[in-house]
Amino acid sequence: MNLSEKEIIEIFKKTGALLEGHFLLTSGRHSNVYFQCAKVLQYPEYMEKICANIAAHFRSSKIDTVISPAIGGIIVGQEVARQLNKRSIFAEREDKVLTLRRGFSIEPGEKILVCEDVVTTGGSVFEVIEIVKSLGGEVVGVGCIVDRSNGKVNFGYPQVSAVKLEAVSFQPEECELCTKGLPLIKPGSRKIK
Ligand code: ZN
Repeated sequence: MNLSEKEIIEIFKKTGALLEGHFLLTSGRHSNVYFQCAKVLQYPEYMEKICANIAAHFRSSKIDTVISPAIGGIIVGQEVARQLNKRSIFAEREDKVLTLRRGFSIEPGEKILVCEDVVTTGGSVFEVIEIVKSLGGEVVGVGCIVDRSNGKVNFGYPQVSAVKLEAVSFQPEECELCTKGLPLIKPGSRKIK
């Protein structure tokens, strides 16, 4: 049975993937939540259960191959492909552009499911869709674990996310957490400003 969004969020909290506090984002904005998908995907049992939501959504679709953008997407694409018993490939950055390497190829007419861990602007997924189309492949849909776009990103194909996490952030000068004097944490480091 598929996990509910509530159950998935509980897993995010339990594994430390979803943190609550006062965080400095790479954009320079401040947020009261921070999400690091790798923290949950490090546990195969959770990864399997969460990816099952994506696999279930596309189980009745005709799919030949799953493709994902490196790095975060690879884990998701591999697991969804395993559950659907399909081939799994990935695109990786070479001179900042996503490309197929390692002898990976897509045949004209091949039906492709694109998988990603987190969609915020959807940039990497859009790039992968262009790779598939440029090789004559047919995009069947897009599956991701977390949609953080607040409903803004539309890939133009059937898309599903296991969970939607609203991204709320503030300009530093408007941050109410700063006003409260809460220490600012830069995620991924121990440094506290
Ligand atoms: Zn702040």
